[in-house]
Parts: sequence; structure tokens; C-alpha cells
Amino acid sequence: MAKIYYDKDANLALIRGKKVAIIGYGSQGHAHALNLKDSGVKVRVGLSDKSKSVAKAQKAGLTVGPVATVAAWADVIMVLVPDHVQARLYREEIAPALTAGKMLMFAHGFNIRFKGIVPPKNVDVAMIAPKSPGHRVREVFQEGGGVPGLIAVYQNATGTAKKLALSYGRGIGCTRAGVLETTFKEETETDLFGEQAVLCGGCAELVKAGFKTLVDAGYQPEIAYFECMHELKLIVDLMYRGGLNYMRYSVSDTAEWGDYVSGPRVVTKKTQKEMKAILKDIQTGKFAKRFIDENNKYGRKTMTKFRNKERGQKIEVVGAKLRAMMPFLNPVVISK
Ligand code: NAD
Ligand code: MG
Ligand code: MG
Ligand code: MG
Ligand code: MG
Ligand code: MG
Repeated sequence: MAKIYYDKDANLALIRGKKVAIIGYGSQGHAHALNLKDSGVKVRVGLSDKSKSVAKAQKAGLTVGPVATVAAWADVIMVLVPDHVQARLYREEIAPALTAGKMLMFAHGFNIRFKGIVPPKNVDVAMIAPKSPGHRVREVFQEGGGVPGLIAVYQNATGTAKKLALSYGRGIGCTRAGVLETTFKEETETDLFGEQAVLCGGCAELVKAGFKTLVDAGYQPEIAYFECMHELKLIVDLMYRGGLNYMRYSVSDTAEWGDYVSGPRVVTKKTQKEMKAILKDIQTGKFAKRFIDENNKYGRKTMTKFRNKERGQKIEVVGAKLRAMMPFLNPVVISK
């Protein structure tokens, strides 16, 4: 059983006694900065002068400065810029400020695990990774709760890294729900695998293949959209609350029987084998290298090609029209 920490295991006074730099003000950055501020922690946000986020952070009542300046001021530096940007920003603006005894923090282990960042031995390196999109980290905290998180310590130069990281986790609300102990290696590899094989990659391809099968067979795309995409949320909500058992309890016996006989025809032994190959590419660093090269060597050409192609998919065009007719969904439009 994983070790889980709660509010009672975390001393908020520790992080309140430190100066904390939040580098980046995106999905996670805004949530960490504002939750810590509300928890009585001394926070500053590090951004480049050109960033559009500067005005946003200032408007929220936060002190903002250049990354190098804020990192030099801080005792604890949380890196919340996109993973492919972190190594360069670390080299140029954070490393010079990283004097002995400071703590470098992450919300995902990518750059430590794949050595994009190699911190000096005399600093603490820890992770608090909320298991939720940043906007939920903020909303749930404001409602008085917290989202679950992960904690990991990669370097413990001071001997107090874990206590301080837990205190940070309490400051952003995660210990209200529970913080599970892991390692940078485990968090990074499982996070990448989950999003590729199941959550984002696996799920998107499953939805597209189901939709295409129905449309190719002559059924109306609008009907196919409801069956293969819209209803997915309703099913996932059941799984979220009570697992696969509750989902199967709630759906008709017809649907449950179809699940047992047809599910394994879709996700086959071949799929399992491919999942193992995907995991291998993650573990060996092959995936990470390709992603970093895509960003730093190839100017995101393939990423842009994929993105444009996916945004033009028939299911996206049909879906946007249908969602516009359902304002109660609070639909969001991503332009092509
Ligand atoms: P993000 O894409 O929302 O934005 C990060 C912010 O970084 C931007 O708003 C901007 O302020 C700054 N930034 C962007 N490009 C930059 C550049 N070229 N140079 C300098 N600054 C730049 O990032 P995010 O999704 O919050 O991810 C931050 C970290 O948190 C990553 O390590 C990610 O893996 C991790 N994480 C994210 C989520 C999530 O919900 N999005 C969940 C868990 C962990
Ligand atoms: Mg994840
Ligand atoms: Mg991820
Ligand atoms: Mg149905
Ligand atoms: Mg049932
Ligand atoms: Mg049915």
C-alpha cells in the first residue's frame, strides 16, 4: 500500500518560514501561487517581461519579477513552465540562483528523470504533483477542499526536504485530500504511460475509430457523435465514483453483456503488446528524446502538422455544431 500523508502529517509553518518562487503562471502556476498566498506563504511569481501572464498575476495581487531575480530572492523554487522549456530556463536563469540549501521543486519529474536538468548536489530536489488540472487545484481549494497529489524527494541535501515538500503540499491544499509517496522515476514513467496509452492517446483513438465505423456504415454523424463521444463522460463519471463495477451496475444488462463480449475484441492481446512497447519507449528515454528534439531541433513541425490534422477531423466539426446547441455543457471552442 502506498504511503499517504494528510494535513496532520504536514507542518504549514515550515513553508510559511520560506520565500517561495513560482516560475510560470499557467495552469499549475496560477493555482500554486494563489493557494500558497491564501495559506499565508511569501510568494513571488517569476516570468519573462514579455509574458502575457505578468498582468494577470499582478491583477491577482501577486508580486511578479524576472525569473532570475525571483529565483535569487527565493528559498524554494517551483518550476511550472512547460516541460520542454524547463531545461533552457533552468540553465539560463535558475541554476545561477541555486545556492546551497535551497529547494528546487517540480510538479512532474520529466526533466529530472531524463536529465534535461541536473541540479547541484547541495540543494534539495522534491516534487509535489497535484493529480488534477491546475484550474481544479485552485477551485477545490477555494471551496475548502484539496485535490490529491504525489510527493517525491530526489535529493535531500538539507535532511529536511520531505518535511518542507509536505508543508508545500499542505499550502496548496493537497494534504486535505491525501498526498501519496512516489519517486521521480515512477511518477514520470506512469504519468507518460497513462496519458499516452489510456487517457489521451488511447481514448482519442478509440472515440475516433468508433465514430468512423458508424459513419462509414452510413449512420448519421450526429448520432455517431452522441454514441461515441458525448456519452463517454456519463460512463467515465460512473467509473470515477464507483469503479468499473458501479458503471456496469448502472448501465443496462444488455450494455454490460456487450462490454464483456466485445470489449476484449477491441483491446486485444496485440494492443497489450503495443502498450508494453510504448512503456519501453518511455523507460528507455526514446519518447522523451523525440519530444525534446521535436521542440528544440525541428521547430515543432510534426507537432503542428498533427495538431492541424486532428483539429479538422469530421468528429470535431460535427461535435462543435452539436455542442453549440447544448449551452448547458458550457461548450468551449478551439479554433482550427
Ligand atoms: P502551461 O502550459 O499551462 O503554462 C506554463 C506557463 O509557463 C505559461 O503560462 C507561461 O507563464 C510560462 N511559459 C510558457 N512558455 C514559456 C517559455 N517559452 N519561456 C518561459 N516561460 C514560459 O503549463 P502547465 O500545464 O501548468 O505545466 C507546468 C508543469 O506542471 C509541467 O511540468 C507539467 O507537466 C506539470 N503538470 C501540469 C498539469 C496540468 O494540469 N496542466 C498537471 C500536473 C502537472
Ligand atoms: Mg498525469
Ligand atoms: Mg503529464
Ligand atoms: Mg447509448
Ligand atoms: Mg446494470
Ligand atoms: Mg444501450
